[in-house]
Formats: sequence, C-alpha cells, structure tokens
Amino acid sequence: MPETPEELWERVHDQLRMPPVEEWETWPFEGALCVRPLAPPVEREQPRGGAGGVDCRRCAASDDEYLWTNERWRLFAFDKPSGLPLVVILETREHFGEPGDLPDELASELGLLLARIERAIRSLGELGRVHVCRWGDGGEHLHWWFLARPARLPQLIGSFAAVWDDVLPSTPEEVWRADLAALEAALGATDD
Ligand SMILES: [Zn+2]
Repeated sequence: MPETPEELWERVHDQLRMPPVEEWETWPFEGALCVRPLAPPVEREQPRGGAGGVDCRRCAASDDEYLWTNERWRLFAFDKPSGLPLVVILETREHFGEPGDLPDELASELGLLLARIERAIRSLGELGRVHVCRWGDGGEHLHWWFLARPARLPQLIGSFAAVWDDVLPSTPEEVWRADLAALEAALGATDD
C-alpha cells in the first residue's frame, strides 16, 4: 500500500529537489527557478466539476457542440485554436468518473476509438506525434485528450507539449478550422 499523504508529506516536504531543467531541451522556459514549498495534505479532496453527474456541463452539452458523435461517445474541439496544431477531447456520452468504471463493452470500444481518432488526426500531415492522455483532476466526466504536436521541432516532444500548447501563439483560425473539418471527414469515413 502506498504511504499515507501525511507520511509522504512528512518524508519529502523539506527535501524537495530541483531537477536540472536547464539541461532539458523540452523545458519551455529559461531563467532561475526554485521549487514551490509543498503544502501539507488537506482533509479531503475537493469534488471535481460535475461530480456525480450533478450540474455536469458535459452531460448537458448538446451534440451540436461536438465535432463527431456516436451513440456512446462524443469528440469535442474547443471554440478557438491553441498553440499546438490540434487538441481534441473524447468523452463518454454517459457520465463516468474513472476509466475503471467503464463497462467492458465501452472499454473495448474505447480502445478502438483511441486508435481510430489518433490515426485520423495523424492523417492530417505535418504532425510529429499525437499524444493520447487522460488526466482526471478537472471535470469529472470521463475524457481523453488528443494533443497533436508539430513534426521536426525537437523541443516540443514529450509531456511538456501540454505546456508548449500555452506557450506557442495560437494556430491561425483558418488553418485550425480546415484541420477540424478534415478530421471530421476522416472520422466520418471510418464510421460504423
Ligand atoms: Zn457528465
């Protein structure tokens, strides 16, 4: 069993390390940094947005707000471009909190969809990789991120691509809209 949060905090809080980020090509920033002190554990975690499906914006959203949908899944694009060429989010139609909560049938279909969507995004061209990520600490409604990074810019590889998404100026609107349309067409072409 992992340490309790209190045990972990007691052991680490006065021994935090500063990793050699200045040596990492993928680190987006320059200049001296220091580690932020680690605050002690809180009594309980804050509920996530839409917890338990109550006032969940993803449950309430209509299909019009999505790039692609089927009976069980919906693919979301934000209403404006960000720094990376393309960022889209796959959500369950029904409200689930964790990947392990998915019934087997949905979990199986998820595997197919992760591959199909990654392949469709990659087919747009000029992309070095499509990162497929699941972070679960924002909204509770189960969702996966697809972060497409440009090809041949070695500083943008790896997990800091999510930070570079905020560092790079936004993709031009017309380029982004054309790519969304191409992705929509690629997904439609492979629909069941
Ligand atoms: Zn929901």
